[in-house]
Amino acid sequence: MKFRQAIYSSSEAVNEPLLVELGQKAREQLLLTGLSGTASELDRALRRSSPLELPELSELRVIRHYTRLSQMNYGVDCGTYPLGSCTMKYNPKLNDLIAQFPGFADIHPGQSPETVQGALEVLWSLESLLSEITGMDAVSLQPAAGSQGEFTGMLITKAYFRDKGELGRRKQVLIPDTAHGSNFASAAMAGFEVVKVPSHDGETDIGSLESLLSYRVAAFMVTVPNTLGIFERNVKHICELVHDAGGLMYFDGANMNALNGVARPGDFGFDIAHLNLHKAFSTPHGGGGPGAGPVAVRSDLEDYLPGPRVKKRPDGTYSLENGSEKSVGRVREGLGNFGVLLRAYFYIRALGGDGLRQATRDAVLTTNYAAKRVSERLALPFGRDKRRKHEFVASARGSGKRALDIAKGVLGSGHAPTIYFPQIVEEALMIEFTESETKAEVDDYIDGLLGTLDRDLSLEPSTTSVARLDEADAARNPRLTWREVVEKKENQAS
Ligand SMILES: *Cc1c(COP(=O)(O)O)cnc(C)c1O
Repeated sequence: MKFRQAIYSSSEAVNEPLLVELGQKAREQLLLTGLSGTASELDRALRRSSPLELPELSELRVIRHYTRLSQMNYGVDCGTYPLGSCTMKYNPKLNDLIAQFPGFADIHPGQSPETVQGALEVLWSLESLLSEITGMDAVSLQPAAGSQGEFTGMLITKAYFRDKGELGRRKQVLIPDTAHGSNFASAAMAGFEVVKVPSHDGETDIGSLESLLSYRVAAFMVTVPNTLGIFERNVKHICELVHDAGGLMYFDGANMNALNGVARPGDFGFDIAHLNLHKAFSTPHGGGGPGAGPVAVRSDLEDYLPGPRVKKRPDGTYSLENGSEKSVGRVREGLGNFGVLLRAYFYIRALGGDGLRQATRDAVLTTNYAAKRVSERLALPFGRDKRRKHEFVASARGSGKRALDIAKGVLGSGHAPTIYFPQIVEEALMIEFTESETKAEVDDYIDGLLGTLDRDLSLEPSTTSVARLDEADAARNPRLTWREVVEKKENQAS
């Protein structure tokens, strides 16, 4: 009964109306009315015959609307943001500033390479740094997300086996059951059949992997450390097994915050790797963007990388070359998400090798400290005696609370952990503090999290702009356009 009281319809609970609703109330005069008679060069048949349905609002009202919305946002600049798997770390403001320098920000993507030598030098240097960090031979900066890097890697895998005349039979991509959903999607989108590999105590089950390996396998796609925050201790052996079966090893580098400066996928034996620069290499991200997911390969796969690519001429200047004949083609316009690439470059340069290593160590130490504290009240399924790396996953099972309720309780004091992922953990609560948080902040957060176990959560959160939504109603009767919202209000009024 109590739970019912807490359910609001979304339009009641969000106390900021849509612009169209504000506009209906305000009926302010548009300043630009004089433009209605402006001559148009557009063909009459192509012109709009009815006026545009724009809300009538003054600039000040619009500014206030967006400012109020921005105040409802939660970000890493507001408080602790332990977003599991997605590495929400502090993003140095200096990097934002540099990325806004006119020499970078005002470049046109179609500008001649001779006029943007500095930008090309940054990109070329970033490729070299990422080669060094991953232990791989060549890098394309083009993919705009981790998932797009995966997809590019899968296209490279396909092209490689097509050239070897093996594509007809190598139709499978193996993926562990701990993997991020995008891995399954990328392999499937590239046309592969996805085969799940079970885990044993939080690591790939070697026996199962061996039984699944055959001439039908194109690649094994693995995240190291995996989404449980556990390092695959057999990773070198796994690379050998897959290579012996003729397959390629694909490294999902979303969790590089556990490896930067300490270990490299190229040294483990991987053939293809993507990085999520917007995770382990700073850059504000979330809510769908922006991102950069460079893909790195072994030298014999370099020709398959997307073009165009930055090349350094013998005289020290830079040119842009089309991809080779074997290239999988463009996966994004231009050379990638330039603003994100710049931030990653300055992040790496500012920290240097020692700094990156220290950040990794701090992140891992923080995780193990936090995991130890949380494990006093909640189970840490799988790998009970194993160290965690960049993140850990607790389970609410047996605590008398659901992960969803705990997360709702935490929302009152900050950002909730990632819940119900990875799927092999029941009632999963996934936590990653990164190197950014101090011990005091970590302790505060964990006190808040564990405090939820001792109280009734049915009415929480109560201090957020949106309380508990009726999730069943949201799923069954989604209102996806402003028209539906306005119509509903009008129906209620009449
Ligand atoms: C975030 C993530 C991805 C996907 O990366 P995007 O940049 O969000 O597309 C893939 N794998 C893992 C383990 C991730 O955490």
